[in-house]
Amino acid sequence: MTTTFAQLGLPDSLVQALSKRDISEPFPVQEATIPDALDGLDVCGKAPTGSGKTLAFGLPLLTNVEKAKRNRPRALILAPTRELAEQIKKELVPLGKATGRQIAAIYGGVGYGPQKNALRKGVDVLVATPGRLEDLMEQGSVNLGQVDIVVIDEADRMADMGFMPAVRRILDSTSRNRQTLLFSATLDGDIAVLSRDYQHNPVRHEAGTIEPETIDARH
Ligand code: ADP
Ligand code: MG
Repeated sequence: MTTTFAQLGLPDSLVQALSKRDISEPFPVQEATIPDALDGLDVCGKAPTGSGKTLAFGLPLLTNVEKAKRNRPRALILAPTRELAEQIKKELVPLGKATGRQIAAIYGGVGYGPQKNALRKGVDVLVATPGRLEDLMEQGSVNLGQVDIVVIDEADRMADMGFMPAVRRILDSTSRNRQTLLFSATLDGDIAVLSRDYQHNPVRHEAGTIEPETIDARH
């Protein structure tokens, strides 16, 4: 029997929004992590590019995230580059419409004005690169004190790009009781240290590439 998104515990609103995009069967990393993430557990996920990590963290996050007050987002997704931040935002915006949650992305290389305006109107889920996020925090345009769900996406690339000190400062500015989801292609070195310092009893999941053989072996 094939598992469905509904069986993983996701609400009808999201299941229907996914089926409109012809997404009906969870990928392995999604099947592994969604139930734990929905339960509020910290998750440490190792999975390669193209395995479906955005929905693995995005669906539980959109199910659980609360509505934000102005300049005070409730969930934060950290990504290493502007392109990845945009990509995550684009994938989650239609799902956010289905659950009534506002999503915005902030990153460098573009003007501050529109990003500050969006934050002022209230962003429930903020997707951000570390550099621009710290700039906007210093300028008082965003306060992370009410962020109780954090996703660190592509943590290995974040480390390679020298963002670990910024990531740590950012995590230190979020709610102490937050849920922390960490995704990376590797889980050793800096990533193991980050997990040890910022996650509480993380559930660890590893998923391989999506190949017909892998899928056959599971059914
Ligand atoms: P990753 O972040 O692991 O590199 P993505 O989350 O960007 O991978 O997903 C890769 C592609 O697979 C995207 O186009 C996404 O819409 C698609 N996708 C994700 N999950 C599913 C699914 N369960 N069924 C079909 N397509 C999916
Ligand atoms: Mg990704």
